[in-house]
Amino acid sequence: MNAGPNIPSQLIDQHGRRKRKLRISLTDRCNFRCRYCMPDTPQWLPKSQVLTIEEIVRVARLMIGEGIGHIRLTGGEPLLRRGLLDVVRALDALRPLGLTRISMTSNASRLAPQAAALKAAGLDDLNISLDSVDPDTFRRMTGRELAPVVDGIDAARAAGLPVKLNSVLLRDDNGGQIVALAEWARARGLPLRFIEYMPLDEPGRWQRAQVVAEAEILAALRGRFGVEPLPRSADPATRYRLDGDYEVGVISTVSNPFCASCDRLRLTATGELYTCLFATQGTPLRERLRAGDSDAQLLERIRDAVWHKQAGYAAQPRAPLERPITMHAMGG
Ligand code: SAM
Ligand code: SF4
Repeated sequence: MNAGPNIPSQLIDQHGRRKRKLRISLTDRCNFRCRYCMPDTPQWLPKSQVLTIEEIVRVARLMIGEGIGHIRLTGGEPLLRRGLLDVVRALDALRPLGLTRISMTSNASRLAPQAAALKAAGLDDLNISLDSVDPDTFRRMTGRELAPVVDGIDAARAAGLPVKLNSVLLRDDNGGQIVALAEWARARGLPLRFIEYMPLDEPGRWQRAQVVAEAEILAALRGRFGVEPLPRSADPATRYRLDGDYEVGVISTVSNPFCASCDRLRLTATGELYTCLFATQGTPLRERLRAGDSDAQLLERIRDAVWHKQAGYAAQPRAPLERPITMHAMGG
């Protein structure tokens, strides 16, 4: 195992891409019903199949030792996970091994009462999903109310947690609200990223016609703002400056995949390591954790899975592919 952050990562794939980011799904459960993410009647996983906090932290520790520097907690809705603060505190204690950032992606509807405690536990920042600032559109897309989400955003900022907003665009729902979202976020000084709708929902539901592609997003923004492209960073989003003083990003997984520079791995709530959102299967770690595998045995399994990561779904003949696991179960 590595001794510190300066030693080269062992988590490198056969295409030479180093892995620096790990997304950990803390639960498949969610209090929202976003139609692009959840099946109509979600079947929650039995608790016995979900990793315990100790198991999650053990896998995180091993992977930090191999060069993972940024962990993002996600789900399902991570705020629903009992013991969330314990997870954040335990990860915070792993910083001496090389962890530099602990983030969370959340719908924020239950954030307000927990924001200050999360900050105190060691959370660095939050991505909050906000698909519309129109209460009716928001309700139609998520099945829930907008107001508690806005309260959550305000509470996070008051607690000193930096917030970025993420909006998935669906043509017939919020496809016409690109400028409204950008104006709302700009007025509050909150970075915003538009996400192209990906085929990660209930099999058979995704329709290419509902995807609002990057080119169209830019055309809408150009109708209202001066739009200047910015150099690409390590972030999967392409970045643009609006009117010289505000930045938006576009995650164009469907129209312009960024697989060539992918530095991410995903651990599902049930302990499967996925090397790609579009991988058709993950590498199960839970049984090995529970069978008493040593750290060295687990690491061998993890390194092997990472090494065999495919070039990317864009390289496959029928792209993008639909997968047997939905987004809330995988962890977004
Ligand atoms: N519940 C949290 C939330 O909504 O932020 C975290 C989990 S959610 C699965 C993580 C991210 O995945 C969210 O920003 C969500 O909008 C995005 N997402 C879910 N389904 C998607 C899809 N089919 N295409 C693109 N993004 C999707
Ligand atoms: Fe829940 Fe997030 Fe999926 Fe919406 S996108 S249903 S909030 S997990």
